[in-house]
Amino acid sequence: MNLKQLTKIDPEIAKLIQEEAKRQHDVLEMIPSENYASSAVLEAVGSVLANKYSEGYPKKRYYQGNRYIDEIELLAIERAKKLFKVPHVNVQPYSGSPANAEIYLAVMKPGDVLMGLTLSFGGHLTHGSPVSMSGTIYKGIQYDFGKTGRIDFDELGKLAKKYKPKVIVASTTAYPRKLDFKEFGRVADSVGAYLLADISHIVGLVLAGCHPDPVPYAHIIMTTTHKTIRGPRGAMIMVTDKGLKKDPDLAKKIDRWVFPGLQGGPHDHVTAGIAVCLKEATRPSFKKCQEQTIRNCQVLAQELIKHDFNLVTGGTDNHLLLIDTHNKGINGRLLAEGIEEAGIVLNRNWVPNDEAPPFFPNGIRLGTPALSTRGMKEKEMKKVADWLNRAVAEMQTFPVDYQEWTAAAYGKNKDSEGRKKLDKKFHDCLHKSRKLKQIALEIKNLCRKFPVPGIDY
Ligand SMILES: *Cc1c(COP(=O)(O)O)cnc(C)c1O
Repeated sequence: MNLKQLTKIDPEIAKLIQEEAKRQHDVLEMIPSENYASSAVLEAVGSVLANKYSEGYPKKRYYQGNRYIDEIELLAIERAKKLFKVPHVNVQPYSGSPANAEIYLAVMKPGDVLMGLTLSFGGHLTHGSPVSMSGTIYKGIQYDFGKTGRIDFDELGKLAKKYKPKVIVASTTAYPRKLDFKEFGRVADSVGAYLLADISHIVGLVLAGCHPDPVPYAHIIMTTTHKTIRGPRGAMIMVTDKGLKKDPDLAKKIDRWVFPGLQGGPHDHVTAGIAVCLKEATRPSFKKCQEQTIRNCQVLAQELIKHDFNLVTGGTDNHLLLIDTHNKGINGRLLAEGIEEAGIVLNRNWVPNDEAPPFFPNGIRLGTPALSTRGMKEKEMKKVADWLNRAVAEMQTFPVDYQEWTAAAYGKNKDSEGRKKLDKKFHDCLHKSRKLKQIALEIKNLCRKFPVPGIDY
């Protein structure tokens, strides 16, 4: 990481970046939507391409001076078309959320029905949640996984018949199983809806052939580029042959709603980073790493089950795990905080049929993409499970009444002042815990052996 000028000009920011780099290096990053972008991607994104304005599309720009930018964007598009085997790609969306908005604007009118997975089951805000634009301008109808934690396609079909959605989103952020795009396609076709496969989380697995491919079944595919595919923060929208068959103007409509519909100038440095990650995704090492990500996740699952962790759906066949923490007696929010104190970074998450509000969910979500990028394998996953178990066991010994905490957080006698007092007691215990510090130290030592791209120690 070269911060020579930055250190001279703005030592405050330089120091904070260095500290964040050290944090990213010294902990186990297990938030499943995160990853380490490659050094090549970081170089492209930190380049002078950020200086350019290039509103419009290659060869059709509103500004002069886009000779090289055109070539970069065309390379990104051609690589994506070839890799995903789709006839049309737009690489300009600023991120996943605007990309989804652009798709909706292209195929729906205000008030049309948008069907997506409910947020608490792992849907994304942009899949029709009432707090997002997607559930305000459109009529968001939300499906869930029912009691089993698995998608019930008969139920989904019934719901679709009843509400006649214009768009069905097949996508999750907290589902540890493979998505059956064929079944989603069948439901969408049965009601004449567009099927949008939002593969932001699983794109790397799809490209490596470790997850069913949505291309034959979806009309439109959206992916972010900064998760399992390890590119810069951005997104791509793809139109499939099936999509063009349904509406021959679909690609044009989407392009038009990306620019000028919702965005201005594309982020050309990010476009270059996307082109780079698409190139890296063709390498054998990329495929190997995605396969290892799933294997790592499965070993972690087996080990955690041995330690009496309750896994939603009983395991995983992708890059993430969802743990129902009821049996551990500590709320997911507290667990996530305590586990971070031990050097493992994951997030709290709602679990199916959770009685708690999403702010205090009884679950945690974790995944293996970033650890696998660092080169960690089965042996390290066994250690991770052991550390998680030790961290939770340590928290169980704290003199904190977790039942009282739950009652104060969301029970009948809700008492946010009381909860805050217990929070403080819990945090005091965390900071004093020698066992958690010991785990964090062991993790830091392991991390020395597994380099992070762009961070040299
Ligand atoms: C991450 C994600 C998004 C949103 O991406 P941002 O870049 O955070 O806007 C949308 N859909 C899914 C499924 C995601 O996982």
